[in-house]
Amino acid sequence: MKCPKCGEEMEPGFMMVEGYSANAKWYGKEEERLILGGELIYHGKMWDMDWIESLRCRNCNAVTLFLPRLKAKAVKEKVKTRPPI
Ligand SMILES: [Zn+2]
Repeated sequence: MKCPKCGEEMEPGFMMVEGYSANAKWYGKEEERLILGGELIYHGKMWDMDWIESLRCRNCNAVTLFLPRLKAKAVKEKVKTRPPI
């Protein structure tokens, strides 16, 4: 696959995620980063590590991640952490 940023060929591999809580959230617009919440897109294992299938561009260091689907439990936790509207 070609890099969407610079057009060079991307290299397949894995990104390792580790730490206390390796959750990742998505914010569609820069302004939304000021608001608590965000969309949970990755729910890591506590005190553990995980390997995420990825593509990496060695030219510009762009990385494409293939995150696993969220389990229903993680989605419920996301709803609980949303601030009241
Ligand atoms: Zn690139």
